[in-house]
Amino acid sequence: MNIKKFIRPNIAKLEPYSTARDEYKGGDIEIFLDANESPFGAPLNRYPDPRMTSIRERLSAIKGVEPSQIFIGNGSDEAIDLVYRIFCTPGEDSVAMIAPSYGMYKVAAATNDVAVKESLLDSEDFSFSVDKFLEIVDSTTKVVFLCSPNNPSGNLLPREEVEKVIKQFEGIVVVDEAYVDFCQDYYASFATQIGEYPNLIVLQTLSKAWGLAGVRFGLALASSDIVEVMNRVKYPYNINVLTQEAVERALCDSDTLKATIAHNNKERKILEEVVLSLSYVKKLYPSDSNFVLIKVDNATDLYNYLMQNGVIIRNRNSVVLCENCVRITVGTTSENRALCDLLSKYGN
Ligand SMILES: *Cc1c(COP(=O)(O)O)cnc(C)c1O
Repeated sequence: MNIKKFIRPNIAKLEPYSTARDEYKGGDIEIFLDANESPFGAPLNRYPDPRMTSIRERLSAIKGVEPSQIFIGNGSDEAIDLVYRIFCTPGEDSVAMIAPSYGMYKVAAATNDVAVKESLLDSEDFSFSVDKFLEIVDSTTKVVFLCSPNNPSGNLLPREEVEKVIKQFEGIVVVDEAYVDFCQDYYASFATQIGEYPNLIVLQTLSKAWGLAGVRFGLALASSDIVEVMNRVKYPYNINVLTQEAVERALCDSDTLKATIAHNNKERKILEEVVLSLSYVKKLYPSDSNFVLIKVDNATDLYNYLMQNGVIIRNRNSVVLCENCVRITVGTTSENRALCDLLSKYGN
């Protein structure tokens, strides 16, 4: 499959902005007078490194892919928007996605004037069926979005089913793995298969298990052909100096990541046990992530009660297939205890 034919013609011939630092090839330069920066206030007086060479190398070792297969964005949201801008012609093309899923795919579709086709997951257990999904795809469909583990349902999509979509769909397949770090013991990411599938883009982020939602740092892992186009289209300095410094430090600290994952698995289990004992809980959906989705008698009432008691959760009542469902993130041990106490008192 040659992915070049999926790229919008204006993007295919785009000449990127060449930054002052792109031309600088290293060497013994001590005086930088090439970028009209202020000479005062180092290091924030300098533009950030647009290539992020050292971060890319560290990520390459962590993710098991080549540095040239890593796009770095200002959160995954930037990568999602770029996928639309690179592969979809506004007013003509469409994308396909599962429902319910992450809201940003639809917002980015709307801002780019791209039509959305949705295929409902199973209404009982949010399971995914490839044949049903591929029925909504037509000749205008350029990209499909799959989210695994899925937000808000929390479940992994079966690996074989996702693989069938990648093999059968004639276009770009985005697999959003924002929560995959939480299931690394029993589920292998699709990241290491980007060499095998030229139409695959795997999204990952430092916003969840890595604990860096505030710095805004997301990844798209894909063939170097796709990454090269994404790098041409992005703003040259999309990742600022402060973020790059914080990420360099965090990527050296895999102990914190492991501790966060272990904590999540332990506390999620505690939360699940409490939830299952409550008479007003109609359903607990199995989770492979750092949140649980539960169906209750009255989601809005539970949401309001918790808010009045200082705890905010996500009311998903108005989301398709999520009537009377709330999504609850796993917090610290004491936060989880406070939540469970309130859940046990509710309705009594
Ligand atoms: C949280 C989340 C992300 C992360 O987005 P960032 O912009 O990297 O913070 C991506 N996809 C899904 C499904 C998410 O839930």
